[in-house]
Amino acid sequence: MRKILIVGGGQSGLHLAHGLLTRGYDVTIMSAQSSGEVRRASPSTTQFSLPLALSSERELGLDLWSAQAPRISGARLELHPPYMPPAVLSGSFAAHGNGFGVAVDRRVKMADWLEFFEDQGGKVVIHGATLTDVDYFSRMYDLTIVAVGGGELGAVFDVDQSRLGGGHQRVITQVLVDRVEPALTDYADVVSAAQGRILIAPVLTADGPAYSVCVMGEPGGPLDGSHLRPERGRPHPGQVAEWIVGTLAREFPDVAARIQHGAPLDATAALVSRVRPHVRKPVQRLSGGAVLGMADAVVSTDPIGGQGWNLSSLCAQVYLQRIVEHGDQTFTPDWQQETFEAFWRSGGESAARLSDLLHRMWDPEAAEAMPHLTEVLFAAAQHQSVADRFIGDLADPRRYDTWLYDPESASAFLNEAAPA
Ligand SMILES: Cc1cc2nc3c(=O)[nH]c(=O)nc-3n(C[C@H](O)[C@H](O)[C@H](O)COP(=O)(O)OP(=O)(O)OC[C@H]3O[C@@H](n4cnc5c(N)ncnc54)[C@H](O)[C@@H]3O)c2cc1C
Repeated sequence: MRKILIVGGGQSGLHLAHGLLTRGYDVTIMSAQSSGEVRRASPSTTQFSLPLALSSERELGLDLWSAQAPRISGARLELHPPYMPPAVLSGSFAAHGNGFGVAVDRRVKMADWLEFFEDQGGKVVIHGATLTDVDYFSRMYDLTIVAVGGGELGAVFDVDQSRLGGGHQRVITQVLVDRVEPALTDYADVVSAAQGRILIAPVLTADGPAYSVCVMGEPGGPLDGSHLRPERGRPHPGQVAEWIVGTLAREFPDVAARIQHGAPLDATAALVSRVRPHVRKPVQRLSGGAVLGMADAVVSTDPIGGQGWNLSSLCAQVYLQRIVEHGDQTFTPDWQQETFEAFWRSGGESAARLSDLLHRMWDPEAAEAMPHLTEVLFAAAQHQSVADRFIGDLADPRRYDTWLYDPESASAFLNEAAPA
């Protein structure tokens, strides 16, 4: 039986671990936290599984929450570009997977997956691995995969300057609250402007359905909540909620009014984190053999694209398929590199390209160079078919490659979807 070690028990590592286990592999997860520690940790942002990620989780028997979690069938997008009047568009995910996504608090999802993996016969070692550990243990396994997300161990992989990552640093400030007014329907609400982005989405927590209010700003900008993060310990949910309401009251008063009466769920319900997106070289040769990086450890995208969970699921799916297809052959460094390339081609690159566009659209000069984007936004505000495509394709950003980025394709799409 082939032995696989996965360092990191998060979205991608556990997804892959379950997939391999059900196919008869001997899988060990090395996780820095036990399931109990995960349950007591702070949340990690909106945890939104878009429809395709959810479908692949379902195929592996990992969709444990859709029956209880509020469904997210689309998004209502309020755009404030500096070069055109504000636009409001609502689009549905109906064309993708089963047509809806769900957001589940990471503390519930990862802890449940880890326990489920162990119940199914998977091996779990609770240990924050060092590079020396990985080098040592990798000799005992046919393949070692490093899936540590934003963990420091990811720095073992060198940054790859040759690939477009499209990401920019963001400060994420989030709080989980018990209500927003009026309550959301089955759509998530997104407000996007040059100052940053606000996402309000229903989320399933250990205490039942709640709302995630997530503010993404540029470091040093008006939506930067870094000062709320103490040097040690966790941010205080009450202070985070108060800062979000106060800041939005100045920048986006309508949004502030919606969330001002929401109370934080509990003493751990806030998060303040700086995200530094990157693309790294996926294969690192250690003295014990080459190890393969996975998901955020090697490709982390700009959170404004909302692709993190989608992409980590996709990475797990591609790696799973490649490992199984490889049968009993050796997992050479060349095979590892080609496995990453398969992931990059099947969605990694498209997600990076989307991040790049979503960042540049707030810069008037860059936007001037892409007049077709303004046309698409105008059309989306007026034609439901365009809005459904513009928003719905977030569920599968490869689809944007066929119509959004170059003026001819965008024009052909608009002629068909929104004839004059
Ligand atoms: C602040 C922030 C905001 C985000 N916002 C969004 C969003 O709005 N929408 C979205 O879709 N995605 C978002 N993401 C991204 C999403 O959370 C990730 O893309 C996804 O979780 C990546 O999966 P992963 O398996 O690579 O890493 P993770 O899910 O982060 O898992 C990594 C695991 O490795 C463990 N670990 C770390 N170091 C070690 C070690 N040395 N030894 C053993 N275990 C270790 C960690 O404890 C963790 O359990 C955000 C991420 C961050 C950090």
